[in-house]
Amino acid sequence: MNCYYHPDTPAIGLCKYCQRGLCSDCTAHAGDSLACRNLHEGQVHSMEALFQRNILQAKRVGSDYLRNTIFYGSVGILFTAFGASQLKWLGLQAAVYLLIGLALLWAALANYLESRKYQ
Ligand SMILES: [Zn+2]
Ligand SMILES: [Zn+2]
Repeated sequence: MNCYYHPDTPAIGLCKYCQRGLCSDCTAHAGDSLACRNLHEGQVHSMEALFQRNILQAKRVGSDYLRNTIFYGSVGILFTAFGASQLKWLGLQAAVYLLIGLALLWAALANYLESRKYQ
């Protein structure tokens, strides 16, 4: 591939904004990325900033889901175990505990699946 602005010069990279090939004369460094010199430096800089912010936000949200998973999971196991062990003696009341426990485990699973999207 050759430089978009100099069709006879081999490109050394791509502008992150417009994806055009750039030779060393046309390349500007914007953060970790390359940009068209004097043309897309600003755009690539703001793209980089946006991207960094998204990573930080995803991490925070992902760990929230993981914390919910642990909370719902442990409470759900308690309810389910209690309901199952008392089912013979308490009947319907124990069945309600069992159902609450299963609902909490279901919520834990949903949170777990959600948290995996952010890894
Ligand atoms: Zn060039
Ligand atoms: Zn460009």
